[in-house]
Amino acid sequence: MLRGAVGLRLAYAVGICLVVGNIYVYGRITGALTEGGGALRLTCLDVGHGNCALVQSPNGKNILYDAGKRGQSDVGKNVIAPFLWHTGVSTIDAAVISHIDADHYNGLPSLIERFRVRKVLVNGQLFHSPDARGLLGFLADKDVPVEVVERGAELDGLGDVSVKVLNPPGNAGGLSHNDTSCVLMIEYGGRGVLLCGDIQEQGIEVLLDSGYDLKADVVQSPHHGGYISNVAKLYAAVRPQYILVSTDSTEDLSAQRPEGSLTLRTHEAGALFLKMNKQGINVRTFNDGEVVSD
Ligand SMILES: [Zn+2]
Repeated sequence: MLRGAVGLRLAYAVGICLVVGNIYVYGRITGALTEGGGALRLTCLDVGHGNCALVQSPNGKNILYDAGKRGQSDVGKNVIAPFLWHTGVSTIDAAVISHIDADHYNGLPSLIERFRVRKVLVNGQLFHSPDARGLLGFLADKDVPVEVVERGAELDGLGDVSVKVLNPPGNAGGLSHNDTSCVLMIEYGGRGVLLCGDIQEQGIEVLLDSGYDLKADVVQSPHHGGYISNVAKLYAAVRPQYILVSTDSTEDLSAQRPEGSLTLRTHEAGALFLKMNKQGINVRTFNDGEVVSD
């Protein structure tokens, strides 16, 4: 099954895995939440219009969720790699590409040139996209395994951290490629993080109909926080405390935001650092330091 310490348990479909190195986030994290017993860390980098989230488990595994930016600049080389070097990460146990849009994967090749990436996880629709040929050819050249995941897949090897794939469903043929984004539910210490990729109306309906409990303390807003007519239904099911938006847009999102939640944007934060365990959640930004600890 999996080499290294991490594997993937699939309820219905495919297998996966991940890994990691050490992690050390910029600066010191303060607040009520202490290091005792470990913590799950989530870092969302400012990559402009794009996405890059690093998930680090207490047992030392690194999962990268997306690595891309709209435009020609090499976000892997110029932004993500320097951050990983700074934090002491040398191995990515699994790189999950939510879907085949350049702003979610065009930084990955430069990371593979510089770091050990044990495997790349994708949705099955990617293989039907002409846009994916270049990436798949590159991964083949570099001998990086590619594995397909769909709803029901579950990563293991992460200690007490649970990572479940909630989307796409096995029968995703009728969905737009945005709506086939890999959606992950990450849980640790009674805390939940939902990473939504670029799902839009259809994907949200599919998720709501899936039967999964979508409650999560933290949600990465679908499709960079852009307008989605039914996103309020998703937020009503998730009931998030924090909504993270990976964007360079200054669009007013307040109409879509549920009462009592705090919205944080990567382009304002520089980077968002979240640390969570059963004691609470600590949120820091690169630009402004600690935002909240509870
Ligand atoms: Zn996107």
